[in-house]
Amino acid sequence: MNRQPLLQIEDLSIDYIIVGGSIKAVRNVSFSINEGEVVCLVGESGSGKSTIGLAVAGALPENAIIRSGKIIFQGKDLLYEKSKNKKIDNVMIVFQDPAATLNPLFTVGEVISDVIRSHLQIRDKGEIREKALEVFRMVELPDPDRIFNSYPHELSGGMLQRVVIAISLSTNPKMLIADEPTTMLDVTLQAQILDLLLNLKKKLGLSMLFITHNLGVASEIGDRIIVMYGGEIVEEASSKDLINNPLHPYTKSLMECIPRTHIKHSRLKHIPGTVPDLRNPLKGCIFSDRCSEVMDICRVVKPLLKEYSKNHKVACHLYSEEEK
Ligand code: ATP
Ligand code: SF4
Repeated sequence: MNRQPLLQIEDLSIDYIIVGGSIKAVRNVSFSINEGEVVCLVGESGSGKSTIGLAVAGALPENAIIRSGKIIFQGKDLLYEKSKNKKIDNVMIVFQDPAATLNPLFTVGEVISDVIRSHLQIRDKGEIREKALEVFRMVELPDPDRIFNSYPHELSGGMLQRVVIAISLSTNPKMLIADEPTTMLDVTLQAQILDLLLNLKKKLGLSMLFITHNLGVASEIGDRIIVMYGGEIVEEASSKDLINNPLHPYTKSLMECIPRTHIKHSRLKHIPGTVPDLRNPLKGCIFSDRCSEVMDICRVVKPLLKEYSKNHKVACHLYSEEEK
């Protein structure tokens, strides 16, 4: 398999302009995704995961400003391409709420036909319908003809999420950004959608940026996991390494929060303390006011993301040369 990075993010920083200031939502983030690889971004709400997903998909809201960085996809800088008003067809995003993609006033067939027409430049109605039915079959939707003619309210939550994934696949993307695609589903449906995404990865060689607050879900689907806190990457490793040997105190807290019981809509348990104020992020370690292992240096010097062992990086003074 070709292991050249498909996506490379370099030193990306994104702010949101708000009344009286700005939210520094993503700061100096760098990582890459190889062809056919699933990389999970994991962290609590507000850690900057969705902002990165939206930036890659070219769908940031109006008040977002990219302060620095590059997003290189298949060798091209997406930010430069966007500035030239070029459409990026090779990256599609799946949101947690199908309502973000499906308009209740239109049938599923009308929505997917529109996407196929505009992205693939197909005009023939029969050809468009055939393409739609093909992707419905790909996501294992029963009775594709009925689905094509249905309105969103006529379908179950699990079916709707399959429809949304099918719409994304209809443009033949190289990469899927899945932003909490299973959060609104119960545990059984969640497992089914994860299985489906894994099958699609195997069958189509699809690369994925999978965004989740749940480290347990990330370990099931991800080849690699990137842990984010307060807009920064604090740890990055293969899923196996990260789960077997978490290094960063924040990752260790997340591990303790993996839901162990099959509770409907189970979410992370609460980590003591509050998420950082991103209008004015801490100068030293971003986790220092919640960390049980905090040292004097942590409050004044920001720890850099450094290689701890092969393919395992961590940003924490506990692992710097002086402290080892
Ligand atoms: P969640 O799981 O809740 O979506 P997240 O990790 O994906 O969290 P983001 O949605 O990327 O985090 O948000 C990062 C920070 O940016 C948060 O502090 C959030 O409140 C803020 N933010 C997000 N969108 C906007 C916006 N349009 N305007 C102002 N602030 C925003
Ligand atoms: Fe905790 Fe210090 Fe490591 Fe930050 S740098 S996570 S405060 S030990």
